[in-house]
Amino acid sequence: MPTQTYFEMLEMLEAEVHPGRPGRPRHLCPVCRLTLQGVDRFLHLISLENVTDVDTRLQLRQAGGFCNRHSYQWANLHDALGTAIIYEDLLREAAKRIEKGEFLSRRSNFFGRSSSPENPFSPCPVCLYQEEIENRVASDFAGGFGEQARFRQAYAAPQVAGTCLPHYRRVVSRLDGPLAEEFSDRQREKFKATQNQLKQIIDKMDAGRKLQQNSEEERQQARSIGDEREALTRAIWQMAGLEDLS
Ligand SMILES: [Zn+2]
Ligand SMILES: [Zn+2]
Repeated sequence: MPTQTYFEMLEMLEAEVHPGRPGRPRHLCPVCRLTLQGVDRFLHLISLENVTDVDTRLQLRQAGGFCNRHSYQWANLHDALGTAIIYEDLLREAAKRIEKGEFLSRRSNFFGRSSSPENPFSPCPVCLYQEEIENRVASDFAGGFGEQARFRQAYAAPQVAGTCLPHYRRVVSRLDGPLAEEFSDRQREKFKATQNQLKQIIDKMDAGRKLQQNSEEERQQARSIGDEREALTRAIWQMAGLEDLS
């Protein structure tokens, strides 16, 4: 039974083949997009309802607050009261642990003290939630690809740039035999399209260098990058996932 997430992904893929208004963002990894949307909603939920929720406060205390990335995403919500409540609590707790000497080095040996202290905190609760969403979205993606011809067809369209490498790995590990092969073939085609555009950029730069005798204007014209410029940012997210993913 296709899920709500499945339909959201299908819509994202099909929107690429039937473009609506011009100027909207080009295709991005749908697993990244839905994961980041889920994380954003979770942070808003903490802000709206859970700041005073005992469980959330306890989790945050055990984690020593959010991780660095999620701390600044929290800061971007500009929730003055929520920040004051959470961080008054976290700082008080940290001061208690300092008072108890919990962070003092207990181990020293012949070679001296270890250079990085042990981490006494549990993982960031938003990171844990993100891991949960990423797995759910990757499962829904694999389910859609495996069971729905319409989804496979939408994904195969050349306008669709595919998933990032981290999410390709999560999806392909959930597919078997011929379906895993088919998904892998599609992924290689999409990477190849980006590679071809990157090669065009390299060729143009080379051509510009070879025109030493020509005017500056002619050299610049030979080097000017067109639509293939988009491949520069696409290559980066295809390898690493979208910004703020990890
Ligand atoms: Zn991704
Ligand atoms: Zn985190």
